[in-house]
Amino acid sequence: MNNEQLPAYKRLPDAKGFFGKFGGSFVPEALQKQMDEITRAYHTICRSHDFIRELRSIRKHFQGRPTPVYYCKNLTEKIGGGRIYLKREDLNHTGAHKLNHCMGEALLAKYLGKKKLIAETGAGQHGVALATAGAYFGIPVEIHMGETDIKKEYPNVMRMKVLGAKVVSVTRGAGALKEAVDSAFEAYLADPVNTIYCIGSVVGPHPFPLMVREFQRVVGIEAREQFIEMTGELPDNVCACVGGGSNAAGFFHGFADDPVEIYGVEPLGRGAKLGDHACSLAFGTEGVMHGFNSLMLKDADGNPAPVYSAASGLDYPSVGPEHAYWHETGREKAAQIGDEEAIEAFFRLSRLEGIIPALESAHAVAFATKLARERPTESILVNLSGRGDKDLDYVMEHFGEYADREY
Ligand SMILES: *Cc1c(COP(=O)(O)O)cnc(C)c1O
Repeated sequence: MNNEQLPAYKRLPDAKGFFGKFGGSFVPEALQKQMDEITRAYHTICRSHDFIRELRSIRKHFQGRPTPVYYCKNLTEKIGGGRIYLKREDLNHTGAHKLNHCMGEALLAKYLGKKKLIAETGAGQHGVALATAGAYFGIPVEIHMGETDIKKEYPNVMRMKVLGAKVVSVTRGAGALKEAVDSAFEAYLADPVNTIYCIGSVVGPHPFPLMVREFQRVVGIEAREQFIEMTGELPDNVCACVGGGSNAAGFFHGFADDPVEIYGVEPLGRGAKLGDHACSLAFGTEGVMHGFNSLMLKDADGNPAPVYSAASGLDYPSVGPEHAYWHETGREKAAQIGDEEAIEAFFRLSRLEGIIPALESAHAVAFATKLARERPTESILVNLSGRGDKDLDYVMEHFGEYADREY
Protein backbone atom coordinates (compact mmCIF):
# COMPACT_ATOMS: atom_id res chain seq x y z
CA MET A 1 0.00 0.00 0.00
CA ASN A 2 1.48 3.37 -0.89
CA ASN A 3 1.06 6.28 1.47
CA GLU A 4 -1.74 7.93 -0.53
CA GLN A 5 -4.03 4.98 0.05
CA LEU A 6 -3.67 4.99 3.82
CA PRO A 7 -6.63 6.47 5.70
CA ALA A 8 -5.92 10.03 6.84
CA TYR A 9 -5.65 9.17 10.53
CA LYS A 10 -2.79 6.78 9.86
CA ARG A 11 -1.00 9.09 7.40
CA LEU A 12 -0.47 11.91 9.88
CA PRO A 13 1.54 13.78 11.00
CA ASP A 14 2.87 15.43 7.81
CA ALA A 15 6.59 15.94 7.22
CA LYS A 16 6.63 19.00 9.51
CA GLY A 17 4.86 17.17 12.31
CA PHE A 18 1.36 18.60 11.85
CA PHE A 19 -1.92 16.85 12.52
CA GLY A 20 -4.12 19.39 10.72
CA LYS A 21 -3.23 22.69 12.43
CA PHE A 22 -2.00 21.00 15.60
CA GLY A 23 1.52 19.83 16.40
CA GLY A 24 4.60 21.15 14.56
CA SER A 25 7.80 22.32 16.19
CA PHE A 26 8.03 25.75 17.83
CA VAL A 27 11.52 25.79 19.34
CA PRO A 28 14.71 27.94 19.20
CA GLU A 29 16.97 27.34 16.19
CA ALA A 30 19.63 25.45 18.17
CA LEU A 31 17.02 22.99 19.38
CA GLN A 32 15.41 22.70 15.93
CA LYS A 33 18.68 21.32 14.54
CA GLN A 34 18.58 18.59 17.17
CA MET A 35 14.91 17.84 16.49
CA ASP A 36 15.68 17.47 12.75
CA GLU A 37 18.44 15.03 13.60
CA ILE A 38 16.19 12.95 15.87
CA THR A 39 13.52 12.97 13.13
CA ARG A 40 16.03 11.65 10.60
CA ALA A 41 17.25 9.01 13.03
CA TYR A 42 13.69 7.99 13.83
CA HIS A 43 12.75 7.49 10.16
CA THR A 44 15.86 5.45 9.36
CA ILE A 45 16.98 3.58 12.49
CA CYS A 46 13.59 2.89 14.08
CA ARG A 47 12.28 1.42 10.81
CA SER A 48 15.29 -0.87 10.38
CA HIS A 49 14.99 -4.62 10.67
CA ASP A 50 17.56 -4.85 13.49
CA PHE A 51 15.87 -2.16 15.60
CA ILE A 52 12.42 -3.69 15.24
CA ARG A 53 13.72 -7.17 16.02
CA GLU A 54 15.52 -6.00 19.15
CA LEU A 55 12.54 -4.01 20.39
CA ARG A 56 10.23 -7.00 19.84
CA SER A 57 12.55 -9.21 21.84
CA ILE A 58 12.72 -6.65 24.69
CA ARG A 59 8.93 -6.40 24.78
CA LYS A 60 8.55 -10.13 25.04
CA HIS A 61 11.39 -11.13 27.38
CA PHE A 62 11.94 -8.03 29.53
CA GLN A 63 8.56 -6.29 29.63
CA GLY A 64 6.41 -9.43 29.60
CA ARG A 65 4.34 -8.50 26.54
CA PRO A 66 1.79 -9.18 25.28
CA THR A 67 -0.25 -8.04 28.28
CA PRO A 68 -3.66 -9.76 28.43
CA VAL A 69 -7.16 -8.53 27.63
CA TYR A 70 -9.48 -9.40 30.53
CA TYR A 71 -13.28 -9.61 30.74
CA CYS A 72 -14.62 -8.02 33.95
CA LYS A 73 -17.37 -10.52 34.64
CA ASN A 74 -18.13 -9.42 38.20
CA LEU A 75 -18.11 -5.71 37.41
CA THR A 76 -20.29 -6.24 34.33
CA GLU A 77 -22.82 -8.31 36.29
CA LYS A 78 -22.91 -5.84 39.16
CA ILE A 79 -23.48 -2.87 36.84
CA GLY A 80 -26.05 -4.84 34.89
CA GLY A 81 -25.14 -3.14 31.64
CA GLY A 82 -22.68 -3.33 28.76
CA ARG A 83 -19.73 -5.71 28.90
CA ILE A 84 -16.51 -4.18 30.28
CA TYR A 85 -13.06 -5.44 29.24
CA LEU A 86 -9.59 -4.27 30.24
CA LYS A 87 -6.31 -4.15 28.33
CA ARG A 88 -3.95 -4.89 31.22
CA GLU A 89 -1.06 -2.42 30.86
CA ASP A 90 -0.82 -2.59 34.65
CA LEU A 91 0.87 -5.96 34.04
CA ASN A 92 3.56 -4.44 31.80
CA HIS A 93 6.95 -4.41 33.63
CA THR A 94 7.14 -1.52 36.16
CA GLY A 95 3.33 -1.51 36.31
CA ALA A 96 2.34 0.98 33.61
CA HIS A 97 2.43 1.73 29.90
CA LYS A 98 5.24 4.31 30.12
CA LEU A 99 7.96 1.70 29.77
CA ASN A 100 6.72 0.99 26.21
CA HIS A 101 8.02 4.31 24.91
CA CYS A 102 10.97 4.58 27.29
CA MET A 103 12.44 1.30 26.00
CA GLY A 104 11.98 2.55 22.40
CA GLU A 105 13.59 5.92 23.14
CA ALA A 106 16.50 4.32 25.01
CA LEU A 107 17.05 1.77 22.23
CA LEU A 108 17.25 4.64 19.73
CA ALA A 109 19.78 6.33 22.06
CA LYS A 110 21.87 3.14 22.04
CA TYR A 111 21.89 3.03 18.23
CA LEU A 112 22.91 6.71 18.17
CA GLY A 113 25.75 6.07 20.63
CA LYS A 114 24.37 8.55 23.18
CA LYS A 115 26.12 8.63 26.56
CA LYS A 116 23.25 9.96 28.67
CA LEU A 117 19.43 10.02 28.75
CA ILE A 118 17.87 13.27 30.04
CA ALA A 119 14.25 13.87 31.03
CA GLU A 120 12.01 15.74 33.39
CA THR A 121 9.47 14.12 35.65
CA GLY A 122 6.48 15.46 37.60
CA ALA A 123 5.08 12.71 39.80
CA GLY A 124 8.11 10.55 39.04
CA GLN A 125 6.44 7.87 36.92
CA HIS A 126 8.27 8.83 33.73
CA GLY A 127 11.51 9.17 35.69
CA VAL A 128 11.19 5.63 37.07
CA ALA A 129 10.38 4.16 33.63
CA LEU A 130 13.35 5.92 32.03
CA ALA A 131 15.65 4.91 34.90
CA THR A 132 14.58 1.31 34.27
CA ALA A 133 15.38 1.63 30.56
CA GLY A 134 18.75 3.22 31.38
CA ALA A 135 19.63 0.34 33.71
CA TYR A 136 18.68 -2.21 31.04
CA PHE A 137 20.86 -0.60 28.37
CA GLY A 138 23.65 0.53 30.70
CA ILE A 139 23.18 4.19 29.72
CA PRO A 140 23.37 6.81 32.53
CA VAL A 141 20.10 8.66 33.23
CA GLU A 142 19.63 12.20 34.53
CA ILE A 143 16.15 13.13 35.75
CA HIS A 144 15.20 16.75 36.47
CA MET A 145 12.54 17.07 39.12
CA GLY A 146 11.08 20.06 40.95
CA GLU A 147 12.09 20.42 44.61
CA THR A 148 8.41 20.43 45.65
CA ASP A 149 7.70 17.28 43.65
CA ILE A 150 10.73 15.52 45.16
CA LYS A 151 9.23 15.96 48.63
CA LYS A 152 5.74 14.92 47.49
CA GLU A 153 6.78 11.87 45.48
CA TYR A 154 9.62 10.54 47.58
CA PRO A 155 9.03 6.79 46.93
CA ASN A 156 9.58 7.38 43.21
CA VAL A 157 12.74 9.39 43.94
CA MET A 158 14.08 6.38 45.88
CA ARG A 159 13.15 4.02 43.02
CA MET A 160 15.08 6.18 40.56
CA LYS A 161 18.09 6.21 42.88
CA VAL A 162 18.01 2.45 43.40
CA LEU A 163 17.90 2.04 39.61
CA GLY A 164 21.03 4.18 39.36
CA ALA A 165 19.59 7.42 37.96
CA LYS A 166 20.84 10.85 38.98
CA VAL A 167 17.98 13.02 40.26
CA VAL A 168 18.58 16.76 39.77
CA SER A 169 16.57 18.88 42.20
CA VAL A 170 15.17 21.98 40.46
CA THR A 171 14.74 24.83 42.96
CA ARG A 172 13.81 27.76 40.69
CA GLY A 173 10.24 29.16 40.50
CA ALA A 174 7.56 26.92 41.95
CA GLY A 175 9.94 23.94 41.85
CA ALA A 176 7.40 21.90 39.89
CA LEU A 177 7.01 20.27 36.47
CA LYS A 178 7.30 23.38 34.31
CA GLU A 179 10.64 24.39 35.88
CA ALA A 180 11.84 20.79 35.60
CA VAL A 181 11.11 20.84 31.83
CA ASP A 182 13.11 24.08 31.41
CA SER A 183 16.01 22.70 33.43
CA ALA A 184 16.09 19.40 31.53
CA PHE A 185 16.03 21.17 28.14
CA GLU A 186 18.93 23.38 29.22
CA ALA A 187 20.96 20.34 30.27
CA TYR A 188 20.22 18.69 26.93
CA LEU A 189 21.16 21.80 24.90
CA ALA A 190 24.45 22.07 26.78
CA ASP A 191 25.59 18.78 25.20
CA PRO A 192 23.26 17.60 22.43
CA VAL A 193 25.94 15.43 20.81
CA ASN A 194 26.37 13.05 23.75
CA THR A 195 22.92 13.25 25.31
CA ILE A 196 19.33 12.73 24.19
CA TYR A 197 16.08 14.10 25.56
CA CYS A 198 13.47 11.42 26.25
CA ILE A 199 10.00 12.90 26.46
CA GLY A 200 7.31 11.29 28.64
CA SER A 201 4.18 11.52 26.49
CA VAL A 202 2.86 12.32 22.99
CA VAL A 203 3.70 16.00 23.52
CA GLY A 204 6.58 18.37 22.72
CA PRO A 205 7.98 19.36 19.32
CA HIS A 206 7.97 17.03 16.29
CA PRO A 207 9.03 14.18 16.13
CA PHE A 208 8.11 13.31 19.75
CA PRO A 209 4.32 13.04 19.36
CA LEU A 210 4.87 10.74 16.37
CA MET A 211 7.68 8.71 17.93
CA VAL A 212 6.03 8.13 21.31
CA ARG A 213 2.72 7.18 19.64
CA GLU A 214 4.51 4.66 17.40
CA PHE A 215 6.25 3.10 20.41
CA GLN A 216 2.87 2.86 22.19
CA ARG A 217 1.01 1.51 19.16
CA VAL A 218 1.83 -2.06 20.24
CA VAL A 219 -0.90 -1.69 22.89
CA GLY A 220 -3.63 -1.06 20.30
CA ILE A 221 -2.38 -3.71 17.90
CA GLU A 222 -2.34 -6.38 20.63
CA ALA A 223 -5.67 -5.28 22.12
CA ARG A 224 -7.53 -5.41 18.79
CA GLU A 225 -6.23 -8.88 17.99
CA GLN A 226 -6.88 -10.22 21.50
CA PHE A 227 -10.37 -8.78 21.71
CA ILE A 228 -11.36 -10.32 18.37
CA GLU A 229 -9.86 -13.65 19.39
CA MET A 230 -11.78 -13.58 22.68
CA THR A 231 -15.18 -12.41 21.40
CA GLY A 232 -15.19 -12.92 17.61
CA GLU A 233 -15.92 -9.23 17.00
CA LEU A 234 -14.64 -5.70 17.49
CA PRO A 235 -15.48 -3.74 20.65
CA ASP A 236 -18.29 -1.19 20.22
CA ASN A 237 -16.39 1.39 22.30
CA VAL A 238 -12.83 1.95 23.48
CA CYS A 239 -11.71 4.43 26.15
CA ALA A 240 -8.52 5.52 27.89
CA CYS A 241 -7.46 8.31 30.24
CA VAL A 242 -5.76 11.32 28.66
CA GLY A 243 -3.08 13.37 30.38
CA GLY A 244 -0.54 14.13 27.67
CA GLY A 245 -2.20 11.25 25.85
CA SER A 246 0.43 8.54 25.26
CA ASN A 247 -1.42 5.46 26.54
CA ALA A 248 -4.59 6.60 24.75
CA ALA A 249 -2.82 7.40 21.46
CA GLY A 250 -1.16 4.01 21.11
CA PHE A 251 -4.34 2.20 22.11
CA PHE A 252 -6.71 4.24 19.91
CA HIS A 253 -4.52 3.81 16.83
CA GLY A 254 -5.33 0.12 16.83
CA PHE A 255 -8.97 1.07 16.13
CA ALA A 256 -8.53 4.19 13.96
CA ASP A 257 -10.17 2.70 10.86
CA ASP A 258 -12.72 0.52 12.63
CA PRO A 259 -16.40 1.27 13.32
CA VAL A 260 -15.54 1.70 16.99
CA GLU A 261 -16.38 4.73 19.14
CA ILE A 262 -13.32 6.30 20.75
CA TYR A 263 -13.42 8.20 24.06
CA GLY A 264 -10.55 10.14 25.62
CA VAL A 265 -11.28 10.51 29.35
CA GLU A 266 -10.01 13.73 30.95
CA PRO A 267 -9.80 14.59 34.68
CA LEU A 268 -12.55 16.93 35.86
CA GLY A 269 -10.82 17.08 39.28
CA ARG A 270 -12.97 19.17 41.66
CA GLY A 271 -15.17 20.66 38.94
CA ALA A 272 -15.47 22.73 35.75
CA LYS A 273 -13.93 25.96 37.11
CA LEU A 274 -10.51 26.89 35.63
CA GLY A 275 -7.83 25.65 38.03
CA ASP A 276 -9.96 22.78 39.34
CA HIS A 277 -9.53 20.37 36.40
CA ALA A 278 -7.23 19.47 33.50
CA CYS A 279 -9.71 18.96 30.63
CA SER A 280 -7.69 20.44 27.76
CA LEU A 281 -9.66 18.73 24.99
CA ALA A 282 -13.04 19.75 26.36
CA PHE A 283 -12.26 23.29 27.56
CA GLY A 284 -8.92 24.27 25.97
CA THR A 285 -8.25 26.79 23.20
CA GLU A 286 -5.53 26.75 20.56
CA GLY A 287 -2.10 27.68 21.88
CA VAL A 288 1.61 26.86 21.83
CA MET A 289 3.51 25.54 24.85
CA HIS A 290 6.48 23.18 25.28
CA GLY A 291 7.22 23.56 21.55
CA PHE A 292 3.93 22.38 20.00
CA ASN A 293 0.56 23.82 18.99
CA SER A 294 -2.48 22.18 20.54
CA LEU A 295 -5.50 22.80 22.75
CA MET A 296 -4.41 24.47 25.93
CA LEU A 297 -5.94 25.67 29.19
CA LYS A 298 -4.95 29.33 29.56
CA ASP A 299 -5.07 31.92 32.34
CA ALA A 300 -6.22 35.52 31.75
CA ASP A 301 -2.79 36.43 30.27
CA GLY A 302 -2.83 33.51 27.81
CA ASN A 303 -0.21 31.53 29.73
CA PRO A 304 -0.67 27.86 30.73
CA ALA A 305 -3.29 27.85 33.50
CA PRO A 306 -2.89 26.04 36.81
CA VAL A 307 -4.52 22.60 36.57
CA TYR A 308 -5.60 20.03 39.11
CA SER A 309 -6.44 16.33 39.37
CA ALA A 310 -6.10 13.78 42.16
CA ALA A 311 -4.27 11.73 39.51
CA SER A 312 -0.89 13.44 39.20
CA GLY A 313 -0.22 11.81 35.80
CA LEU A 314 -3.18 13.66 34.30
CA ASP A 315 -2.64 17.25 35.46
CA TYR A 316 -1.19 18.80 32.30
CA PRO A 317 -2.56 22.06 30.83
CA SER A 318 -2.30 20.88 27.22
CA VAL A 319 -2.74 17.63 25.32
CA GLY A 320 -0.96 15.72 22.56
CA PRO A 321 -1.64 17.40 19.17
CA GLU A 322 -2.98 14.22 17.60
CA HIS A 323 -5.76 14.06 20.21
CA ALA A 324 -6.60 17.73 19.52
CA TYR A 325 -6.90 16.83 15.81
CA TRP A 326 -8.93 13.65 16.35
CA HIS A 327 -11.20 15.59 18.70
CA GLU A 328 -11.69 18.46 16.23
CA THR A 329 -12.53 16.06 13.40
CA GLY A 330 -14.96 14.13 15.61
CA ARG A 331 -13.04 10.84 15.61
CA GLU A 332 -12.37 11.02 19.36
CA LYS A 333 -14.96 12.19 21.85
CA ALA A 334 -13.86 13.84 25.09
CA ALA A 335 -15.37 12.60 28.35
CA GLN A 336 -14.89 14.10 31.82
CA ILE A 337 -14.55 12.24 35.10
CA GLY A 338 -14.02 13.98 38.44
CA ASP A 339 -11.90 12.93 41.45
CA GLU A 340 -14.78 11.34 43.36
CA GLU A 341 -16.01 9.20 40.46
CA ALA A 342 -12.42 8.06 39.86
CA ILE A 343 -11.93 7.13 43.53
CA GLU A 344 -15.19 5.18 43.48
CA ALA A 345 -14.01 3.27 40.39
CA PHE A 346 -10.64 2.68 42.09
CA PHE A 347 -12.36 0.87 44.96
CA ARG A 348 -15.02 -0.80 42.81
CA LEU A 349 -12.50 -2.46 40.48
CA SER A 350 -10.35 -3.49 43.46
CA ARG A 351 -13.30 -5.06 45.32
CA LEU A 352 -15.06 -6.73 42.39
CA GLU A 353 -12.13 -7.88 40.27
CA GLY A 354 -9.07 -7.92 42.53
CA ILE A 355 -7.34 -5.31 40.37
CA ILE A 356 -6.13 -2.08 42.00
CA PRO A 357 -5.94 0.47 39.16
CA ALA A 358 -3.76 3.58 39.00
CA LEU A 359 -5.83 6.69 39.80
CA GLU A 360 -5.24 7.81 36.21
CA SER A 361 -6.63 4.56 34.82
CA ALA A 362 -9.52 4.66 37.32
CA HIS A 363 -10.86 7.67 35.37
CA ALA A 364 -11.23 5.43 32.29
CA VAL A 365 -12.85 2.66 34.36
CA ALA A 366 -15.34 5.16 35.84
CA PHE A 367 -16.31 6.34 32.37
CA ALA A 368 -16.68 2.77 31.09
CA THR A 369 -19.02 2.03 34.00
CA LYS A 370 -21.18 5.04 33.10
CA LEU A 371 -21.28 4.06 29.44
CA ALA A 372 -22.11 0.45 30.32
CA ARG A 373 -25.18 1.64 32.23
CA GLU A 374 -26.33 3.75 29.26
CA ARG A 375 -25.66 1.07 26.63
CA PRO A 376 -26.50 -2.36 28.04
CA THR A 377 -26.09 -4.18 24.71
CA GLU A 378 -22.61 -2.84 23.89
CA SER A 379 -19.04 -3.75 24.79
CA ILE A 380 -16.41 -1.36 26.14
CA LEU A 381 -12.68 -2.01 26.07
CA VAL A 382 -10.71 0.10 28.57
CA ASN A 383 -6.97 0.66 28.44
CA LEU A 384 -5.94 0.09 32.07
CA SER A 385 -2.76 2.19 31.81
CA GLY A 386 -1.25 1.23 35.18
CA ARG A 387 -1.58 -0.32 38.62
CA GLY A 388 -2.48 1.60 41.74
CA ASP A 389 0.15 0.62 44.33
CA LYS A 390 1.72 4.06 43.93
CA ASP A 391 -1.59 5.71 44.92
CA LEU A 392 -2.44 3.74 48.08
CA ASP A 393 -1.05 6.21 50.64
CA TYR A 394 -2.69 9.17 48.93
CA VAL A 395 -6.08 7.48 48.55
CA MET A 396 -6.23 6.22 52.14
CA GLU A 397 -5.13 9.58 53.53
CA HIS A 398 -7.56 11.71 51.50
CA PHE A 399 -10.41 9.34 50.68
CA GLY A 400 -10.12 6.75 53.46
CA GLU A 401 -13.89 6.76 54.15
CA TYR A 402 -14.48 5.17 50.70
CA ALA A 403 -12.83 2.00 52.02
CA ASP A 404 -15.81 1.40 54.35
CA ARG A 405 -18.45 1.51 51.62
CA GLU A 406 -20.10 -1.32 49.72
CA TYR A 407 -19.33 -1.66 46.00
C1 LIG B 1 1.66 8.96 33.31
C2 LIG B 1 0.47 8.13 33.36
C3 LIG B 1 -0.69 8.45 32.62
C4 LIG B 1 -0.83 9.69 31.80
O1 LIG B 1 0.02 9.79 30.70
P1 LIG B 1 -0.51 9.68 29.20
O2 LIG B 1 0.63 10.19 28.40
O3 LIG B 1 -1.73 10.56 29.10
O4 LIG B 1 -0.83 8.28 28.93
C5 LIG B 1 -1.77 7.56 32.68
N1 LIG B 1 -1.73 6.44 33.43
C6 LIG B 1 -0.64 6.11 34.15
C7 LIG B 1 -0.67 4.85 34.94
C8 LIG B 1 0.50 6.94 34.15
O5 LIG B 1 1.56 6.60 34.88
